[in-house]
Amino acid sequence: MDWPAGIGKGSMEAIIGDIGRYAIHDGPGIRTTVFFKGCPMHCPWCHNPEFIRPQPEILFYADRCIGCGECVDRCPESAIDLNAPQRIDRRRCTACGECTPTCPTRALAVAGTRYGVDDLVAVLLRDRLFYDASGGGVTLSGGEPTLQMAFMARLLRRLKAEGLHTVLETGGFFPFAPFQAECLDFIDLIYFDLKISDPGRHQRITGVDNRLIWSTLAHLARWAPDRLVPRIPLIPGYTATRENLIALSGRIREMGLARPVLLPYHPFGRSKAVHVGRQADAALPRVPMSAEELARWSACVEPNDSTQKIAKEENDAD
Ligand code: SF4
Ligand code: SF4
Repeated sequence: MDWPAGIGKGSMEAIIGDIGRYAIHDGPGIRTTVFFKGCPMHCPWCHNPEFIRPQPEILFYADRCIGCGECVDRCPESAIDLNAPQRIDRRRCTACGECTPTCPTRALAVAGTRYGVDDLVAVLLRDRLFYDASGGGVTLSGGEPTLQMAFMARLLRRLKAEGLHTVLETGGFFPFAPFQAECLDFIDLIYFDLKISDPGRHQRITGVDNRLIWSTLAHLARWAPDRLVPRIPLIPGYTATRENLIALSGRIREMGLARPVLLPYHPFGRSKAVHVGRQADAALPRVPMSAEELARWSACVEPNDSTQKIAKEENDAD
């Protein structure tokens, strides 16, 4: 992983992609979600493609741009060309942020700000009233928060010292031993996202081997089963196949864990990818998954063998 200077192992600072206040889908109650920058995976459906790279980067919202050209002269790297299809030459852009305040329509923004623990905790404590009133707290998401584990450990200790409820959202690609030593005691809930059962397919699609993920899940199943929530994002053509869902849920069940939570597909990532100069995956649907589709896929993760048999028969008939 190509980290910005001063970030990474043992760092006192982290690169934070964004801080989302008043979140109601990232754990119990009203929460503030901290999106860490950087992820070891590059899933084509990622909801937050702007947080995959560890470095800060410029976001360009073409639909807001009125072509006034104010940003062009402000850029010290001559990285902006109004006539270029991508508008910003990302090889030249240093994400300095000089162009963003000049834009009258907020078509430019930088994702990725350095935070020390004290500064970040101060921001998170602003919403303590909402946490206390709703049973909420702070969720660490991303990107992949465990990539900046030393910083995350310090942050978690501080949040717990303040009496706040903490949630970790993770893809599970991290070594368990340092996590257990530094972080586990300070996390109330772990949302653990599993994607593809077959190791070769997982490597091809996400960019990493899933053996470390399974190993970490097995450790968590042993040490923190009551705080562990396995989840599967349902992505048509990728994770949402009967074979994959039956394999994933079977292995989860073998570890003695609860039925996985299924996250229905939403095309968030498709539209956001272009803001960081990535091509949206043309194979991904443009519409959210329907309730009927969700119910159909849910049959595949039921612990009831007869339900799985019916699902298999339906699949064979498709
Ligand atoms: S962030 Fe800095 S380098 Fe990048 S386009 Fe804006 S002004 Fe230029
Ligand atoms: S300043 Fe904003 S609106 Fe004007 S050209 Fe640049 S990005 Fe577009």
